[in-house]
Amino acid sequence: MKKDVRKAVIAGNWKMNKTRPEAKALIEEMKPLVANAGCEVVACVPFTNLETVLEAAKGSNIKVGAQNCHFEKSGAFTGEISADMLVEMGVEYVIIGHSERRQYFGETDETVNKRTKAALAAGLKVILCVGEMLADRENGITDELVAMQTKIALKNVSAEELKNVIIAYEPVWAIGTGKTATAEQANEVCAVIRATIKALYGCEAAEGITIQYGGSMNAKNAAELVAQPDVDGGLIGGASLKAPDFAVIVDAATKG
Ligand code: PEP
Repeated sequence: MKKDVRKAVIAGNWKMNKTRPEAKALIEEMKPLVANAGCEVVACVPFTNLETVLEAAKGSNIKVGAQNCHFEKSGAFTGEISADMLVEMGVEYVIIGHSERRQYFGETDETVNKRTKAALAAGLKVILCVGEMLADRENGITDELVAMQTKIALKNVSAEELKNVIIAYEPVWAIGTGKTATAEQANEVCAVIRATIKALYGCEAAEGITIQYGGSMNAKNAAELVAQPDVDGGLIGGASLKAPDFAVIVDAATKG
């Protein structure tokens, strides 16, 4: 598989962090540090920060994303946000199926599929998260599980729509724990996801799709991870809240 046909994407997942003034300050600090990035740079921020961050990032190379959206267009879904609402604001990306949504908010493979389809239909780019729990890895079912999550999430997603999908391989045991998958482990599972895409959509789609690694990626380990042939950047939690660290990761992805 030819890595140079794909653009690496480094996306920050700010999770439930930062007030509006803090968000503005973080983007202002990041802007000059990532201005020469040779990869796509995205900040996925809390809903309350979207307007602030869209404004602060204007004229820069930082793209803005949300961390979830609902699958219905509108209606009686208290506390939810629709894909159309995000698009109307100027948001470009949305994370779907993050393991914290799956663990704490009842997200299932089926609802991940519904949200993915709704987001794509509205014109958003989707960062679709898949990944195994520690017990799955210990039971030797990582490859099958991740392939299954990928297949279900992409059910009835067309080849044309797939062009707006990035897949983030995020082993759950590595998220926010400081335990990173080895570069070989990350590459191996990203390759399994690519093979799954090849089986579903063919060779060209598999070669073109961006597959990120996520899970305690930081300024120290990013270079080795993003240099792997099947790893096209990263989804970054904790380290995306520190502009200098995030910039080092962006530099690592630029060098590939
Ligand atoms: C994430 O939230 O997707 C993530 C990978 O978090 P962290 O980098 O903190 O492990």
